[in-house]
Amino acid sequence: MTSPGKDAGKKDKLLFTPGPLTTSASVKEAMLRDLGSRDTAFIAAIRAIRNSLLGLAGLSREKGYECVLMQGSGTFGVESVIGSAVPPGGKLLVVINGAYGERILKIAGVLGIECEALRCNENRKTDPGEVAGRIGADESITTVAIVHCETTPGIINPVEETGSIVREAGKTYIVDAMSSFGAIELDLEAAEIDFLVSSANKCIEGVPGFSFVICRAGALDHCEGQARSLSLDLFAQWQGLETNGQFRFTPPTHTLLAFERALEELAEEGGVAGRAARYSRNYDTLVAGMREMGFVEYLARGDQGYIITSFRYPAHPAFDFTEFYTRLGEKDLVIYPSKVSDADCFRIGNIGRIQESDVRNLLKAIASVLEELGVENAG
Ligand SMILES: *Cc1c(COP(=O)(O)O)cnc(C)c1O
Repeated sequence: MTSPGKDAGKKDKLLFTPGPLTTSASVKEAMLRDLGSRDTAFIAAIRAIRNSLLGLAGLSREKGYECVLMQGSGTFGVESVIGSAVPPGGKLLVVINGAYGERILKIAGVLGIECEALRCNENRKTDPGEVAGRIGADESITTVAIVHCETTPGIINPVEETGSIVREAGKTYIVDAMSSFGAIELDLEAAEIDFLVSSANKCIEGVPGFSFVICRAGALDHCEGQARSLSLDLFAQWQGLETNGQFRFTPPTHTLLAFERALEELAEEGGVAGRAARYSRNYDTLVAGMREMGFVEYLARGDQGYIITSFRYPAHPAFDFTEFYTRLGEKDLVIYPSKVSDADCFRIGNIGRIQESDVRNLLKAIASVLEELGVENAG
């Protein structure tokens, strides 16, 4: 019997972050196995996961969709799609209202893909009309990319309306649905999405280690031979999974076993609708409690999703974010700094294995830290 690590048995901190997130004990337990990458049980798990993901999206092979798993964090999945789906000599239009949209632009730049940014206000939803204008003004655009839930402040962008415009213009449509897939209903067919990317450790509540792409089979076929990378070649990865059921290179075996369990727990919770309901309750409780203390949200309610919320720093001179963050951490509660560029904010996530009671405990802890700091009102 090997001895447990020195922190084993200690309670982990609760993560109110954009990921990695708090996961259930049973998801973590599912990893306590060593399976070979060619093990038939493991190959069956891969197949089951790919089918479940299509099912979760309300899709199937018969409907003309495919699911590809890719090693690495969410960014690797995005990079594999950008690097594989934009044709040689093609041009990518990136619709940006936050750090994750900027990252897509950066990926395209590094890969030497011609690209253009449509920058929108960071505190507002992107405007489909502006996308139509850009596409109409530049015939050389072949591909459009957008982020569904821009996790920077927590905005939900109008990916359905944008999709109709992209489809009408005959362009390929890529959606980064990293922090929304599994918890926000999205009809890929209606939204005309060719490639949707998400990852193991966000709303499906698995552990980090791989990303996945749900795509139209026809759009995937066009990727053959186009990849700007060997390991992030989306088509080759799909081909590998189809021919022998395996990953081309070492798969994150433990992560996949955890993910299989996480998908079961998502189904037990009532699928996307059930998870959306819990996250929404977390969000409602959080915002009501924070407002009571005087905190002000960065976004207007209509632009704000229930995934993660940005709050402005209190104006009170005694407020110090590092101190605030550290003291909450000492109470085993982890919040997150913000990436919005035009205001001082921090973020609190509602996702992961977090219940309304956890949010209430967080609110109590925030109230007591404010008191310790001498901040009477957080407005
Ligand atoms: C988390 C996230 C990503 C991926 O980030 P990784 O650190 O690579 O997992 C990409 N886009 C959005 C919108 C995200 O929330």
